[in-house]
Amino acid sequence: MRLFEYEGVELLRRSGIATMPSGVARTIEEAAACAATLGYPVVVKAQVLAGGRGKAGGVKPVQDETALRASAASLFGMTIKGETCDTLLVAKAADIAHEFYAGVTLDAAAGAPVLIFCAEGGMDIETLAKTAPHKLRKLPLSTLRLPRRHEILDQIRLAGITGDTLPKITTTVQQLIAAFFAHDCATLEINPLAVLADGQPVALDAKAVIDDSALKRQGMAKTVAAPAVTLEQRAAAAGVNYVRLDGDVGVIASGAGLAMASMDTVTACGCRAASFLDTGGGISCANMAEALRITLATPGVRAVFLNIFAGINNCAEVAKGIATVIDEDKPAAPLIVRMRGHSQEEGWAILTSRNIPVAKGATEEAVRLLAARLKGL
Ligand code: GDP
Ligand code: MN
Repeated sequence: MRLFEYEGVELLRRSGIATMPSGVARTIEEAAACAATLGYPVVVKAQVLAGGRGKAGGVKPVQDETALRASAASLFGMTIKGETCDTLLVAKAADIAHEFYAGVTLDAAAGAPVLIFCAEGGMDIETLAKTAPHKLRKLPLSTLRLPRRHEILDQIRLAGITGDTLPKITTTVQQLIAAFFAHDCATLEINPLAVLADGQPVALDAKAVIDDSALKRQGMAKTVAAPAVTLEQRAAAAGVNYVRLDGDVGVIASGAGLAMASMDTVTACGCRAASFLDTGGGISCANMAEALRITLATPGVRAVFLNIFAGINNCAEVAKGIATVIDEDKPAAPLIVRMRGHSQEEGWAILTSRNIPVAKGATEEAVRLLAARLKGL
């Protein structure tokens, strides 16, 4: 579960990492009261789960109450990557001397958590990872013992940090690693990790993803964190695994492996997946309808590919779910369904009666058909 910045910041604070004093506001009046307590200048930040918020105009420094009210008014209701902002973080403005990047995340290739540190923090770490990957220092971490201080310090030194900053940042990164493990994180990232004009390191942003399987142990409930209902939350409520991507084909498949293979096929046919949705086994008609609605609501989706292999699932249930959406919502995006297995004839008949193309053969065949239709749109 991804936490909002204000929750992530709280997690960092509890782990001993310095952050700017801040408060949470859900109305313009609350924002004004919060800023008055903190003292100007402050920075007003849209609380959305999507990345790239700063670039999208979701972070606004303000000098006085007039500017604060204007910024808060423009941020409330603002949509960033399909997410509407209804909460603001009001933080005391920082006098920044340097911005670094520090994060711990699960690295699938290394099969371990990895510390990533970079002397060039700020908003464009993703670009840097592509254009100048050598600038990212990486240290694979053991899940059995925390790294020794000198191992962390070496990485930070190799990233080019010197002088008084080196031991101070090392301490912060050490706290970050301990927090990652203590809170069962899948990702815990500070970008930027700033050094202020007075030399003190301060986390100016927090991105925390808690391992869903550890929520109970962490005393968290999946629904508590987010006030607005996101597509991710709807997916969780429907019991399906959903990940938003940035292409144009929504992929729904019965099983994570089939979903990944489907995405590969979509890519091989010259398209890109807009979302990944794994229905799991035994999906009901109602949850199938919700899965399709979530996929259709994903920003960027122009077509949907459903790849269902029904063993525990039932093709008729799946088809009824799809038919509900076709009948009630009349989606504009074309759909192609490849479906085989339990009750397939019944399922095919339901879909065919709604003029939904059904592929009975190979995945490639279905995706090629979809790619051709997309090109014609
Ligand atoms: P993100 O784009 O969603 O990652 O938003 P961040 O919270 O990381 O903010 C984006 C950028 O805004 C940072 O890299 C900083 O350069 C800047 N920023 C954030 N907080 C402050 C602040 O208190 N003072 C100043 N001067 N800049 C800030
Ligand atoms: Mn950031």
